[in-house]
Amino acid sequence: MVRILLRFSENIVEEPITSQIILELKVPINIITAHVNSKGGEVLAEVPDEALDKVVKAFRKRGATVSIPKLIEVDSEKCVSCGACITLCPVEAITMDEDASVVFNKEKCLGSTCSACVDACPVRAIKSVKQKNSELVAINAR
Ligand code: SF4
Ligand code: SF4
Repeated sequence: MVRILLRFSENIVEEPITSQIILELKVPINIITAHVNSKGGEVLAEVPDEALDKVVKAFRKRGATVSIPKLIEVDSEKCVSCGACITLCPVEAITMDEDASVVFNKEKCLGSTCSACVDACPVRAIKSVKQKNSELVAINAR
């Protein structure tokens, strides 16, 4: 699965664009987070790798902005168990084990749409990395 960040302007936010694309392309789109109000919307979603290109094109055709957020990696070797990232994480994607080692749940993490933990880490044990899919480079460049 590839994570995509969708932005809908005020003019199109009330249209059922995501459900239209799911029905039209018959592709599962997994919504991870959605912040929507009358002024616009921002949705973080996951789509199957093989459907990425057509899903991105379909959203752009309907006026949405699509970008590919970076993912987060935690280097447990560098971690000094200070807990700063755990306190800041809005979705409890980082927890601490009984032996004080950090446990990172990448399924829950919001990636570079959040990044709150990256700057907070005093030993730079957390970094943003590009999603590993060569097609993404072309999509990001558009
Ligand atoms: S990037 Fe945000 S959501 Fe992901 S682990 Fe860090 S604080 Fe949590
Ligand atoms: S902020 Fe860095 S050092 Fe502190 S618990 Fe998180 S990963 Fe470990």
